[in-house]
Amino acid sequence: MSIIRSIAVTVSFCMFLQLALASPAAADSYHVEFLPGRSDDDGAMRRAKVTAIITPKHGRIGLMRSGTDTGLYHQWATFVESIEAERSDGTPVELIYEPHGQWRVSGWRRGEVTVRYTMSLQHDRFMNDPGDDELASATAYGVMWTGRALFMEGAPSDNITVTFNGPENWRVTSPWKTTDNTGLAFKSADTDDLLDSAFFAGTHDETIVTIGSIEARLATGPEMTAERDLYKQTLETYLPIYASLFDSAAVEAPVIVGIRGSFWGGGVMGRSISLTHGGDLIPQTIPMVIYIVSHEAFHLWNAQWQYNERKRSEIEWMAEGIAEYYTWLSSIRSNNIPTDYFLTELGNRWATYRNALSHRSISAAGASKLKDSQSYDLVYSGGMMATWALDMFIRQQTNHEKSFDDVLKAMQAEYTGVSAKDLTKLSFIQTVKSSTGVDVTSFTRQHLSQSHPMPMNDLLDGVGLCLTENETDDGWSATLGNCGDLTDTVYARQTEWMAMQ
Ligand SMILES: [Zn+2]
Repeated sequence: MSIIRSIAVTVSFCMFLQLALASPAAADSYHVEFLPGRSDDDGAMRRAKVTAIITPKHGRIGLMRSGTDTGLYHQWATFVESIEAERSDGTPVELIYEPHGQWRVSGWRRGEVTVRYTMSLQHDRFMNDPGDDELASATAYGVMWTGRALFMEGAPSDNITVTFNGPENWRVTSPWKTTDNTGLAFKSADTDDLLDSAFFAGTHDETIVTIGSIEARLATGPEMTAERDLYKQTLETYLPIYASLFDSAAVEAPVIVGIRGSFWGGGVMGRSISLTHGGDLIPQTIPMVIYIVSHEAFHLWNAQWQYNERKRSEIEWMAEGIAEYYTWLSSIRSNNIPTDYFLTELGNRWATYRNALSHRSISAAGASKLKDSQSYDLVYSGGMMATWALDMFIRQQTNHEKSFDDVLKAMQAEYTGVSAKDLTKLSFIQTVKSSTGVDVTSFTRQHLSQSHPMPMNDLLDGVGLCLTENETDDGWSATLGNCGDLTDTVYARQTEWMAMQ
C-alpha cells in the first residue's frame, strides 16, 4: 500500500501479492448482517454484525492485515463494538485482547471457534490513512467495506463461504463466486481472496462489463452513471492492450467499487479496485480517474508475479515502476493522450526521480517507500524511469529489434502459474538476457543498486528525443522533446515505440 500525492488529491494504491499459503483443511464461514448504526449516525447501515466460524492461528484471531500504516493503534479493531466467542460445543471462551487488532483465544488447543462481533462503520468520519477507499464508507444506498477491515482472520483456509443479510432489495457486488441466485451468498477462493478485496452492499447499480474472457463487475451509486461509463470505457480500452502486452489474458476479473466521498482516492486489493470520488466528474478529473483505473488494472497481471518475499523491497520498483511506465505508454499507444502530454509527463517524472536520487538508490528505497516521500518517488517515478531507460537500452543494444515489451511477456510467462520462478534482481537480469540477448548486469548495479543517474540522453539517441535538465535552488526540472529534425529512420523508431504493435 502506498500513497501518491499530487495537486490537491491523494491517491493511494495498494497491491498485495497472492502468497502461496499451505492449504489447511478447515472450512471457514462468515455471515454478515447490516443494521442501522448509532443514534447519532445518519441513518445509513453503519453497523455490521458478523458471525465467523474460523480456526485460530497459533491460538489467535484478529483483524490485523496490512493495517500498520493506518495510524490507528488498534488498526481495524478500532471499530469493533463488541466481541464474544464459543467453542464448537457451545461453551464460551475468553478472548484476551492483544494490541494491534489481535485476540488470544484462552485455553484453545485445536478446532474451530464461533466468533460473534459487531463493527461500527465510522471509518469515513475522520481523516485516516490509507483512506476510506481501503477501509469502509457508508452512503444512503449502501455500504462499501474492504475484506480486511471486516473479516476476522484465523488460520488460512481455501474453503470459505460468505453470506449477507441486509434490508430488502439489497444486493452485494463482490469479486467472489456467487453460490446461489440470491446474490447474497458467495465462496471466496481463499483467505487472501477474502481479505484482499472490496465489496459493495446496497441498492447500488451493478454493471457487468465483458472484455474478451473477462467479466468485470462495477458497483456505482445511482447518481454515478458518468463514472460508471468512464470505468467501463477505461477497462475496455486498457485490458485488451495489457492482454496483448503480456501475451496473456488477466486470470481474474476485477471488481470496481465507486462511491462519492470527501476526497479523491483509489486503492487496489487483490483484484478489487475501490475509488472515492471527491466531486463530480469534470474534464479536469477525468484523466485522474483513467489513470487510477488503468494503473490498478495493470496490477491484475504484474501483481500476480511471484516476487521473492525476502528480497521484495529491492524489487519493489518492478511492481510500481513497470506499472507506471506501461500505463502511460499504453495511453499514448492507444491515442488516449496527446504526444506532448506524454512527453511532459516523462519529463516531470524524470525531475521527480532526480530530486529523490540524492536520498538513496531505487533498490534501497523499496524498504521505506511508505515512510518518506523521496523513497516513494524513487519506487514510483524512479522505477518508471528505470523501466523507460531499460526499454531504451534494450532497443539501442539490439538495433531496435527488441524492447522491454519482450521482457514483459517473458516475465509474465516465467513468474506466474504453478511452475513460477521466484522473481529477484538476479532472475530479472537473466530474464532480460534470455528474452532480448541484452546484459543489464552493470546497468542495474549502477542505476538501481547504486544511485548513479541514468544516462538518459545517451539512451534516447535512437528515438530522437532530448531531455533538458535544469537544477536550481528549488531542485531539478526537466523537459523532453524532439532533438531538432528527425531522420526517417529515427522518426520510424520513435513512432514504433509510441504506437501500438
Ligand atoms: Zn500500484
